[in-house]
Amino acid sequence: MAISRRSVLGAGALGALGLALPNLSLGQSDGEKRRAKNVIFCVSDGMSLGTLSMVDQLSRLLHGRPSYWAELLNQEYVVNGFQETRSLNSVVTDSAAAASTWGSGRRIWSGALNEFPDGTKLRTLTQLLGEAKVRTGLVTTATITHATPAGFCVNAPTRDNQPFIATQYLASGVDVLMGGGTQYFDASKRTDKRDLFSDFAKAGYAVAKSREEMLAIEGSKALGIYSNSHLPYWVDHMNSPELMRSTPTLAEMSRKAIDMLKGSDQGFLLQIEGAKIDHAAHGNDLAGLIYDQIAFEAAVKVAIDFAIEDGETLVVITTDHGNASPTLNGAGAGYGDSEAGLARVAKMKSSYDRLFTELGTEPKAAKIRESIEAHLGIAIKPEEAELLAGKSPFASSIFYGGRNATLSVILGNYTKVTWTSGNHTSDHVLCTAFGPGKEAFHGLTPNVASFANILAHYDIRHENPKMTYEEAKKIRDAKNVKDGDGGLAAHLHADVCDCD
Ligand SMILES: [Zn+2]
Ligand SMILES: [Zn+2]
Repeated sequence: MAISRRSVLGAGALGALGLALPNLSLGQSDGEKRRAKNVIFCVSDGMSLGTLSMVDQLSRLLHGRPSYWAELLNQEYVVNGFQETRSLNSVVTDSAAAASTWGSGRRIWSGALNEFPDGTKLRTLTQLLGEAKVRTGLVTTATITHATPAGFCVNAPTRDNQPFIATQYLASGVDVLMGGGTQYFDASKRTDKRDLFSDFAKAGYAVAKSREEMLAIEGSKALGIYSNSHLPYWVDHMNSPELMRSTPTLAEMSRKAIDMLKGSDQGFLLQIEGAKIDHAAHGNDLAGLIYDQIAFEAAVKVAIDFAIEDGETLVVITTDHGNASPTLNGAGAGYGDSEAGLARVAKMKSSYDRLFTELGTEPKAAKIRESIEAHLGIAIKPEEAELLAGKSPFASSIFYGGRNATLSVILGNYTKVTWTSGNHTSDHVLCTAFGPGKEAFHGLTPNVASFANILAHYDIRHENPKMTYEEAKKIRDAKNVKDGDGGLAAHLHADVCDCD
């Protein structure tokens, strides 16, 4: 049955889907110039192609036009390609090793940050650029100390030591840091009682802890931390007047960071991460996924708009790996039920995190039904609610063992969307580039190639040492380091992923 457009067009929540692209002719774009002054590297963490596709299909369904990134793909002035994403030890990477390939140009063991298991530290983008007086910034919806921003900057044997990573940022001199993670900066929450907020202020940083404080920042260096842990899912954020007041969006943080970084003779490098796409995919949470991808694309628009105006900025838009391969399936006679299934996202007002927090640990079936209908707009059957109240029917599956997987399978009856797991995947990932030097991202490129491609714009050449998988494994075996010691297993298999 075809969906009635009128029934879903009222969903103002999805209004950001209709972002307009400028109509540039080739002559107005970067032309023959190969060297950029600035690079903005945008990461939709854990974005499988199904995520991009569903946001585009939803946009066409609700607004009659493509989504922002999908429309960008068709412009003459961009180059599109794929990146392969493996780490040193696996064809399926984690975010720390993935970001480190960009940050240092080397493959390392999953869970580490720009460091080999013998302690060899690799020089990172922000370290090398800082020495050359290039300004640098990291913006994310995760904790600022999380794997992806840290991968451009920090050396650490494990991504899990976020209090340590916070101290590394102070030492690094990165100019603009924005995201979540108060617990890693606040003296009352750090086990060493160090007041990193004061230390950053003494080092000349404006410190902002709310949207209002962020908008008021003047000066050239800032630490903006807007949540104790990760920033909220966009679906929860935009449905809470309090969060809308207190917490900036990814697009707002990106705009502020660009305003602060631009204008120096040496240029700047900015990483923008939409982190919660990955978290939602780990949790098989469709509303979390779709809305955060929309929020990410709004931040990409900020970057592209600046680059068009500036004319000397390379913008790269990609992801570090796929995650859970969400996809809209054919359903019903002639597959005619699929669109109506996807359109149910327009009625969803909550992430799984918020729903499960409300439900508590052992909710009764009736309460489960009531909460799902209130938050997600779907009246599941009593027997489906019973499945959620009891032991997981997939308890023996390594991919579907958690409560969130059970919920996603049940909701799949209505949304027609299913997931292959709650884990990262090995897919090659989409990469779109705009501006001088975009050609380097054409075709299928290895993730490690981005490091040299970015540095070349600032006329810097640097080769980090290499280590093979066999060498790394020998060192790890001698030290008796196991996967999981670095927190990787916990990260990948969290029931509802908060991905700390
Ligand atoms: Zn990731
Ligand atoms: Zn992840």
